[in-house]
Amino acid sequence: MDTPALPTPGSAPAHLLALRGRLLHRRQVLCAELDAQAQRHSHELQRVQAALNRMDWGLYGDCAECGEPMALQRLLAEPAAVYCTGCADTLEPRDR
Ligand SMILES: [Zn+2]
Repeated sequence: MDTPALPTPGSAPAHLLALRGRLLHRRQVLCAELDAQAQRHSHELQRVQAALNRMDWGLYGDCAECGEPMALQRLLAEPAAVYCTGCADTLEPRDR
């Protein structure tokens, strides 16, 4: 049994070209979402690893800006926090 040939853009009926266009668009959207997700996960992984390093070095829980110990509630809510809430409020959001 012969396998039907895949349509190529030059020879495909209009409905297949339209479906191909939708699939190409969907692929583009999914790739963009995957890239964004990978970047978010990479950033979060770096933050988690940095927190583990601070723990190993005995620095975990100390604010990187003022040096004061962070409140336990702060760490329970955000275990990878680098800054106390006071310093985090005065720093740029991306530095939190
Ligand atoms: Zn601080």
